[in-house]
Amino acid sequence: MRQSSLVVVANRLPLDDNAAPDGACEWRRSPGGLAGALHAILEQTPATWVGWGGGVGPARDLPDIGTLRLRPVSLSEDELAGYYEGFANSTLWPLYHDAVEQPVFDRGWWETYRTVNRRFAEAAAEVAEPGATVWVQDYHLQLVPQMIRELRPDVRIGFFLHVPFPPPELFMQLPRRIELLRGMLGADLVGFQRPQAAHNVAQLAQKLLGARGADERILLDDRVVLTGAFPVSIDVAEMRSLSARPYVVNQARQLRHDLGAHKRVLLSVDRLDYTKGIEHRLTAYSELIRDGRVKVRDTVMVQVAVPSRERVESYRGLRDRIEREVGRINGEYGRVGEPAIHYLNQPFDRADLAALYQTADVMVVTPLRDGMNLVAKEFVAARREDNGALVLSEFAGAAAELEDAFLVNPHDVDGLKETLLHALAADPDDLATRMKGMRDYITSNDIHAWARAYLTALHESRVPAV
Ligand code: UDP
Repeated sequence: MRQSSLVVVANRLPLDDNAAPDGACEWRRSPGGLAGALHAILEQTPATWVGWGGGVGPARDLPDIGTLRLRPVSLSEDELAGYYEGFANSTLWPLYHDAVEQPVFDRGWWETYRTVNRRFAEAAAEVAEPGATVWVQDYHLQLVPQMIRELRPDVRIGFFLHVPFPPPELFMQLPRRIELLRGMLGADLVGFQRPQAAHNVAQLAQKLLGARGADERILLDDRVVLTGAFPVSIDVAEMRSLSARPYVVNQARQLRHDLGAHKRVLLSVDRLDYTKGIEHRLTAYSELIRDGRVKVRDTVMVQVAVPSRERVESYRGLRDRIEREVGRINGEYGRVGEPAIHYLNQPFDRADLAALYQTADVMVVTPLRDGMNLVAKEFVAARREDNGALVLSEFAGAAAELEDAFLVNPHDVDGLKETLLHALAADPDDLATRMKGMRDYITSNDIHAWARAYLTALHESRVPAV
């Protein structure tokens, strides 16, 4: 067994689902921020990535991608249902996002979640060289840090949660709250998107596990667990160079022409998820048209809603509701050859996304709760001039960083309507100042800075518990 000094453990391998028939693999750029987030770092560091390769049944061996080795983990059909669609995406996902959708507690799912987490931990323990660094990602694998610690006390363990960590009152609803907390705190360093999450965890650790210490230094079982905020980012340079490519520039010009050269374009790009506030946004936009404050002849909305988790009931219901509402709005307010909304229920590749970002006058990002929201940062990185407005929910992690956005509470539909109008009517000098501010921020806080900050803190962890 070949071993590595850096092991990344994540639910999915970073593979393109369609790119393996001849054995050749490419980096996967699927919707979902994680693979993209780590892509930039792992191209440069010899490492092993442990993850599920997609599909069910026994995992087959996969060739290396450059210096990156792949260690696939298999899942059966039942495991996929219980671990991934069940406990991860029907229990933890809604609970961690403020329970905007009711979390489902199913005892069978828990057993499967634990079994699958153990399989990931064993795979990681097998491929980590003595004293290696193992970096576990996200809510799918929350038990893995403690499991690795038991199997391999010699390795340094990091855990990063890409989604929000909920307030203690919500976390306390989880029937298996103690095991989940203990699992995560098996790491030497637990990273979050925002400082509030570290505070929530420290409070719970005191209450449920009798831990001591403060927000960033939890004393548990004679060990120190460090925690902290490391807001994730994007590969700004990559997005910038992509945006300058002739294909993208031409595509943006074509889109502009197709949408109507004189029109103001509102753009939203989301996975089709109930956390993204798509319905709130549609309500605000349709009321603006109804009230005559926005005219279909000079304004158009483009909503990209990428299919997501379609085997989970609540996602199918959401899709039906959104499609009905888009149909209603276009039926009521559209004109021949002039819809109020262009609705695209399909994934776009990065080049086409970059072109879309360039076409927008106002980027509308209104999640009810979001760990970060990389789309907001990509929009800023893709803009080649100092124009364009970003309307951004206060409940996205990105709001703590992009202070020059037009911040909004998406639950307040009247406030959202006013903010959209404000952004549409903003003075070009104001927009230029805001865009420069946001661009400067993400340029010095890109994905490389994130990885450096996290891995440096991880290497300085394992402090004595005195
Ligand atoms: N994305 C994509 N194609 C699409 C729509 C989105 O590749 O058609 C990517 C987008 O560029 C971003 C990611 O999916 O990098 C979404 O990340 P975000 O943090 O905004 O939300 P998540 O889906 O992780 O909740």
